[in-house]
Amino acid sequence: MEIALSNDIHTYSGGLGVLAGDVVRSSADLNLPLLAVTLVSKKGYFRQELTREGKQIEHTDSWEPSQFMQQLPEEVTVKIQGRDVRIKVWRYIMKSVLGWEVPVYFLDTDIEGNPPEDREITSLLYGGDERYRIKQEIVLGIGGVRMLEKLNVLVHKYHMNEGHSSFLALELLRKFEMDINKVRNLCVFTTHTPVEAGHDKFSYELVQETLGEFIPLNILKSLGGQDRLNMTLLALNLSNYVNGVAKMHGIISREMFPSHKIHAITNGVHSYTWTCESFRRLYDKYLPGWAHEPELLIRIDIVPNDEIWQAHMAAKKILIDYVNTTTNIGMDYEALTIGFARRATEYKRHTLIFSDPERLRRVNSRGRIQLIFAGKAHPKDYRGKMLIEELFRYKEMFKDEIKIAYLENYDINVAAKLVSGVDVWLNTPLPPMEASGTSGMKAAHNGVINFSVLDGWWVEGWIEGITGWAIGPSPEEQASTEELKARELNDLYGKLEYVIIPSYYKRRDEWIPMMKNSIGKIASYFNSHRMMHRYVTEAYL
Ligand SMILES: *Cc1c(COP(=O)(O)O)cnc(C)c1O
Repeated sequence: MEIALSNDIHTYSGGLGVLAGDVVRSSADLNLPLLAVTLVSKKGYFRQELTREGKQIEHTDSWEPSQFMQQLPEEVTVKIQGRDVRIKVWRYIMKSVLGWEVPVYFLDTDIEGNPPEDREITSLLYGGDERYRIKQEIVLGIGGVRMLEKLNVLVHKYHMNEGHSSFLALELLRKFEMDINKVRNLCVFTTHTPVEAGHDKFSYELVQETLGEFIPLNILKSLGGQDRLNMTLLALNLSNYVNGVAKMHGIISREMFPSHKIHAITNGVHSYTWTCESFRRLYDKYLPGWAHEPELLIRIDIVPNDEIWQAHMAAKKILIDYVNTTTNIGMDYEALTIGFARRATEYKRHTLIFSDPERLRRVNSRGRIQLIFAGKAHPKDYRGKMLIEELFRYKEMFKDEIKIAYLENYDINVAAKLVSGVDVWLNTPLPPMEASGTSGMKAAHNGVINFSVLDGWWVEGWIEGITGWAIGPSPEEQASTEELKARELNDLYGKLEYVIIPSYYKRRDEWIPMMKNSIGKIASYFNSHRMMHRYVTEAYL
């Protein structure tokens, strides 16, 4: 449904799309025979503006496909509400520096001859109502399979990246005359979130109205659920290989769907893309070949400490200058800078660090801290929007004591500056809601140290005091809600005050080896080259 290929192609909203982009980037580097299919989303997701009170204003974020890709002559149709909807296609070529290429196909219903309503189907990413969403998913899943057939692509495996594309399995089922085993052998499914709202469910009235009797209703219900069509369940039932996106998420997904065998392939990020200029130069000098073989980062200890620090300060300067030109906060280069950027939604808990203002003041008296935030709330996520407003009130409340910035319009360019330019990357989701998380992996590629709740990928990346620090208990420990919160706050403030601040300000000879561990023990593993090797050998072959 979404993919982040470049900052000017507004077809993504967050982590899911960035991951899809990194899949394509690594596949191109590794010369994998893979292609991707998505929607053109010509009006984008949205551009975020924030008022002085932190109220989010959403602007359309259009982009022009013809500037980046080529329209092909092929067309297919799908039936929606009894009408034939025509679909055309754009081809984008993701070119690796090594010369290999992966095509990405963008489906587009904005064709003369389609009624105005249908021309809008592929306009807005995650926009509109349920009816709009199911139409988009019909175009993506059914239209996608038909388009590949039209393009004469011989498909060995279909990988459904999240349940949004599950209709593709229904199209295959029809094509192979209800031979479920045949379809299952062709399909791989990755589930990406334990959050309920992340799993599309449609009433069968809506399915009947839009899709009609595509396959017999009793069969559809047996595959997608009796009460409502659950797109995750549909994909689970029609795939031979299913995985979650971190070991912990595999466990949670098996609890959610106990009758299915669910594997785990931990996410990664594209090393070259998420490493800033100054660190790219450093790695090129000491670890040539690192971009193609990120395992080489394991030898980071051969780089002298002062060169690590210089590379970090170069990235930090770029970020602080950006903060100071886009806000009037006046941040400085030397203060311990903590970053927090992610989709503004309740479980991510953007404001956890402000839970006890007095303790935060005491922390700040031990050594100055400054905080940089960013993140968009989905237009219909009212609580997410309230979270941003709440954060703005804390920003105001602390304005004479702690410098706090909220950067507008979090996108991959802002993310690249943030994950490389801060000293510490803070992550405080409510466990077990964070399936994986990837921004902390990006931070590690730039020697930024993670300070995070033990959820998602961090359970696998964390070695206390070596690769970073934990907030709260490990997932194996059973803790009540109150106890959990108390321990989280204790770690959050206690480690900042007694471990992180003293180490940053007084023991740089301790700090820089931890930066190196982020690179050597985290980035060397949590990259999308390793992830794609696993998808190929375990899921695709
Ligand atoms: C990496 C990235 C994300 C995902 O970060 P999480 O840590 O998974 O929340 C979201 N948005 C953008 C723009 C990103 O670059």
